Amino acid sequence: MGAGRFAPSPSGDLHLGNLRTAILAWLFARSTERKFLMRVEDLDRARAGAEAQQLSDLAAMGLSWDGEVVRQSERSNLYAAALDGLRDRGLLYECFCTRRDIADAPSAPHAAPGTYPGTCRGLTEAERAAKREMRPAALRLRTEVGSFTVTDELHGAYTGVVDDFVVLRNDGVPAYNLAVVVDDGIQGIDQVVRGDDLLSSAPRQAYLAKLLGYGIPAYAHVPLALNSEGKRLAKRDGAVTLAQLAAEGIDADAARAVILASLGLPTSSIDAALAAFRPASLPTDPWVFTTSPDARGTGKPIGWPS
Ligand code: GLU
Repeated sequence: MGAGRFAPSPSGDLHLGNLRTAILAWLFARSTERKFLMRVEDLDRARAGAEAQQLSDLAAMGLSWDGEVVRQSERSNLYAAALDGLRDRGLLYECFCTRRDIADAPSAPHAAPGTYPGTCRGLTEAERAAKREMRPAALRLRTEVGSFTVTDELHGAYTGVVDDFVVLRNDGVPAYNLAVVVDDGIQGIDQVVRGDDLLSSAPRQAYLAKLLGYGIPAYAHVPLALNSEGKRLAKRDGAVTLAQLAAEGIDADAARAVILASLGLPTSSIDAALAAFRPASLPTDPWVFTTSPDARGTGKPIGWPS
């Protein structure tokens, strides 16, 4: 049996957009007889108390997960072992570039913005030794392709850049792209459902999964929630977390109903939604969520039951 997952970063409260992605990940996993795992991505950006609040909000949505919650901060040995294996194969190199160095470096014609230009790829040992005196090194993957194609349930075949991306940051923390691939591989995740802001990371991750001998998961990058200005929904947009909504008298059941309605699913319960869930009929446009008072003058955000 395969598994899907939700992998929040415990940087603060989840908002309706995050909760909607979590519900979708759960629906995708449960409707395909997969396990559903919960993994807290707390290698950085962890804020005290945020994990407990996020898990309780996810449970309030009616979501359940299999097994214990896994925390990345407790898995350093797994990331170190993966890095050792890559190092032994000659697939890592030290990089001393600052963001500025990368921005200022001449890039190959037609290179996608942010593509690492390869500055440190060919340094001699003497050059590296000199640079180590100046600043700690990050480790990059020595890649052999320029791009890689993944298949996404909502986006079809998606080809994206695979540059020599960072796998260990220069502060010693495993990079997101490494941790996520190692965890998905070891946890037997064969279905990755997450926000479509991460679609462009999928080719790098799939390429690394292949290098590490893991299967490449099925992907579904789902549309994000946007505010009334078309920008990514954020907590400052008003009543968008369960705590903020509760203060307005809107409970978790009502919040879940609004999310399910936005997906075109029955709103009575999460199980009713599961029974009706068909990936092919999901809306593919972003969910525009507006919290301005509606025309009826109830003071409640548009979309809320009055
Ligand atoms: N932790 C990431 C986030 O909260 C998600 C990573 C993933 O699903 O691959 O944005």
